[in-house]
Amino acid sequence: MPKRHLGQNFLFDPSILRRIVEVANITNDDTVVEIGPGLGTLTKILAEIAKKVIAIELDYELYERLKQELKGFKNIELIHDDALKYPYEALEPFKVVANIPYYITTPIIFRLLDALKNMKSMTLTIQKEVAQRIAAKPDTKEYGVLSIMVQYYGKPELKFVIPKGAFRPVPKVDSAVIRIEILDKPAVTVDDEKLFFRVVKTSFAQRRKTLANSLKSISNDIKEILIDAGIDPRRRAETLSIEEFARLSDLIKNIVKN
Ligand code: SAH
Repeated sequence: MPKRHLGQNFLFDPSILRRIVEVANITNDDTVVEIGPGLGTLTKILAEIAKKVIAIELDYELYERLKQELKGFKNIELIHDDALKYPYEALEPFKVVANIPYYITTPIIFRLLDALKNMKSMTLTIQKEVAQRIAAKPDTKEYGVLSIMVQYYGKPELKFVIPKGAFRPVPKVDSAVIRIEILDKPAVTVDDEKLFFRVVKTSFAQRRKTLANSLKSISNDIKEILIDAGIDPRRRAETLSIEEFARLSDLIKNIVKN
């Protein structure tokens, strides 16, 4: 019986699985980390192409079952662990491919972004709506903190949609496969990364407010700072590009001595 609380929605369709591996751009030089191998359908296809697959499964029952199922593959390292806790930092360069459990989609993405050092790309099957938020451009309703967090470190591309009916059991919503190529250096250079993300989060905390309003808590002089940054204080967060957020946070850094 699939465990819903572990986000177990399995994929069996070989053509969809192959397409995921194809857009992940895996070669025989690659070490692949697969989060949540489940019944091993994707794992096997990955192992046929990659140099090595490290498959991390939390569910002990599935882990035991996979051990048998994957016995014939010499290049699969099966690990019983929580993907949120796994020490990715210690790995040689790797690519992530995963149909990740819905209940921890964003925590897993943030955990991976935290362990960027040797990560080359992530190809994730996630709820379509989250994929759209990650890839969103300014001036759309999907654009927000998640878009900027991911686009600061990587270049996301929504590759294709998987209708919910392709999963067993069938989930409530459609999924999409998104590939995030990790950039050699962040998309913008900022003086203070923490402040940059704080400015982004505070700006979006109340999406419908003007920036002059939502950023009051950061500085009393926010109106002047915005004008200095060449940003109309009446604009809303969702209209700002990542470059504009960078310019704004650098100016705040210079003026407000935290
Ligand atoms: N990749 C498989 C299964 C996807 S379902 C397929 O496409 O068919 C999600 C899988 O993630 C399940 O096997 C679930 O047990 C596992 N999982 C859930 N939480 C996890 C966690 N914190 N760490 C690792 N695996 C997890």
